[in-house]
Amino acid sequence: MSVKKLTKDDFAKFVEALIAKENVIGVQAKGDRFDYAPLEAAADLRLDYDVTLQPPKKFFLPPRETLMTFEIGGAYTSEHDDETFVLLGVHPYDMIAINQMDELFQQDNYDTHYMKRRNNATIIACDVMTPSANVFASSMKTAVVKSGYDVLLTDIGDDYVAEAGTEKGEALLAGVAEADAAALESRQAVWAKNEKSLNKHELECDAHYLPKLLDRAYDHAVWEEIAKTCFSCGSCNQVCPTCYCFNVQDDVNWDLKTGQRDRAWDGCLLDGFTKVAGDHEFRNQRADRFRHRLYRKAKYVPAKIGGQIACVGCGRCVGACLPDIANPISVYNRLIDDLGIG
Ligand code: SF4
Ligand code: SF4
Repeated sequence: MSVKKLTKDDFAKFVEALIAKENVIGVQAKGDRFDYAPLEAAADLRLDYDVTLQPPKKFFLPPRETLMTFEIGGAYTSEHDDETFVLLGVHPYDMIAINQMDELFQQDNYDTHYMKRRNNATIIACDVMTPSANVFASSMKTAVVKSGYDVLLTDIGDDYVAEAGTEKGEALLAGVAEADAAALESRQAVWAKNEKSLNKHELECDAHYLPKLLDRAYDHAVWEEIAKTCFSCGSCNQVCPTCYCFNVQDDVNWDLKTGQRDRAWDGCLLDGFTKVAGDHEFRNQRADRFRHRLYRKAKYVPAKIGGQIACVGCGRCVGACLPDIANPISVYNRLIDDLGIG
């Protein structure tokens, strides 16, 4: 795949041309924070952002969607989103979270609803220029991304280096000049810096060791101790780029003949998440739910996707948690301190 270079002025023209023909969703300022929103002008794009309020998962797995409509005892129709769109400004850790979700949503039961949106998307990722207050992507080895995007942009001062990751990306960059050796060297320097500096919280072990650590931590006192101040609000789930749990519900319309099946985000920290028929609830204690989230990130999901840790170090949960207990690094480091690296 080719690696190109374009000036910032040319990049602005590239974005304007994209807006003229595609539905472009780009990172923009929202007060003193940043988030994804439909992009109407290149000048509104903020690739110097620190972190977006919401991760990009909602563009592939919306907070609520209709999966199908049905007639009782009759036919059903699957509902799919057909619109193509461009997602502009995805940071490497969020791209890696999308790559993980792609793997998960194609496993077992291939999820046509997620995958249709994913295949309809063009993702233009960009390397981090401004570290956020709580990022720890360096610790999680997610500060730099090598796959999943259609184009990866790196700000090297007056220019952007733009690398195509797919044929879609190649087509977008057609006609742009090849990057020279100096530009590639500058990009390498950005990557080398980010691999170390996106680390406001430092994990005290190699991230790949975490599943083994959790093998020895199930009955540790830390779960009860920390979960005492948990509100079970689910904010840590909601802002997490790798949390993808959902609930599915069928509703019958007033005509009592037709209905629809919807799915909506759910969260393992919410009371009732594990409630089943007969009012049985498998994790009705806060400590059990608190433990489950951190086991899911570093043990259960890695077991499904080749050992990849399902925390990409975006730091959003750290900022979203009012009692300040959601930071996975604090808990994992506490376990390392207490249990050692066995
Ligand atoms: S657990 Fe927290 S830091 Fe890790 S990916 Fe989720 S929101 Fe980001
Ligand atoms: S850990 Fe924090 S953000 Fe998560 S449910 Fe508990 S209080 Fe809410």
